[in-house]
Amino acid sequence: MMGVVMSLLSVVLPSYNEEQNVPNTVRVLSDCLTEAGIDHELIFISDGSRDNTYQEIQKAARENPRVKGVEFSRNFGKEASIFAGLQIASGDAVVVMDCDLQHPPEVILQMWKLWQEGYEVVEGIKSSRGKESLAHKLSAGLFYRVISGLIKMDMNASSDFKLLDRKVVDVLTALPERNTFFRALSFWVGFRTASVKYEVQERKFGTSKWSAWSLMKYAVRNVTSFSTLPLQMVTVMGVVSILFSVALAIQTMVRFLSGTAVEGFTTVILLVLIIGGFIMISLGIIGHYIARIYEEVKGRPKFIISKATDNIKGNVTGDWHGI
Ligand code: UDP
Ligand code: MG
Repeated sequence: MMGVVMSLLSVVLPSYNEEQNVPNTVRVLSDCLTEAGIDHELIFISDGSRDNTYQEIQKAARENPRVKGVEFSRNFGKEASIFAGLQIASGDAVVVMDCDLQHPPEVILQMWKLWQEGYEVVEGIKSSRGKESLAHKLSAGLFYRVISGLIKMDMNASSDFKLLDRKVVDVLTALPERNTFFRALSFWVGFRTASVKYEVQERKFGTSKWSAWSLMKYAVRNVTSFSTLPLQMVTVMGVVSILFSVALAIQTMVRFLSGTAVEGFTTVILLVLIIGGFIMISLGIIGHYIARIYEEVKGRPKFIISKATDNIKGNVTGDWHGI
């Protein structure tokens, strides 16, 4: 191997309460990547876990120096974990995947091959959504339909499972914004893109962290941080009510002039309610955008790291506290 510099692959694994998955995932991934002859590092981000996830990461790191990890000071969410991982990763290519092995490790090898062929972003595309409740399927379907329309990209089968070239990682970690939507940002940045299909596997241990409420919040946050279309809908609603009121004004005048304008009470109540509803929805939509602006302006860090394994301590700047 004289003169050949081996490329390094970083695998970023957001982990929230995954104490059972960590040791198993380390084993499966190291076996798979070692066998394929890929030099690698496994970066676990414990997202303020309340179980022994971080202890498991430390244990794995002591046994295998390719395993690295940090602990957040509290739960900051998967987006924050992904971005922390991207900052820490030093690989020439970085794969982001769930640590519950729902993203099959063999797919990394296909992604790696495409990267070697010169692709800079390799998207993992779900060929089926795995086992989900009907309600989850329907709401996720609706969310992706809406968001695909809003950002004008087909997001339906996309996931956070993807490989990014070093260039792309540097672009993403340099983005100044706080409200990120990783899944769509990798489309937004462009670059030479390929995709691989994969079957979503069953979770090995533990349970999914998403409740219907958290999915809702995730959907609203992502739509408002990625698109201004809802704001334009407020204008459309205004135009519709103006057209409606012109028609009604004409009718009212005609009635008044013809002397039959006595019983208008029902109409008044309905109008007040409908217009009141429009105004409140509009204020709500604007409010969501103001909230996003407020968060961006405050400029707080996306995450706070409270602990890190020895092999990465001090190697990352910013957002480090208490170490
Ligand atoms: N996760 C995280 N922070 C959170 C929620 C989830 O880092 O606040 C991680 C979780 O440990 C897992 C991945 O994100 O590795 C996907 O989460 P999960 O498996 O619960 O979601 P699902 O696969 O059901 O969509
Ligand atoms: Mg999962």
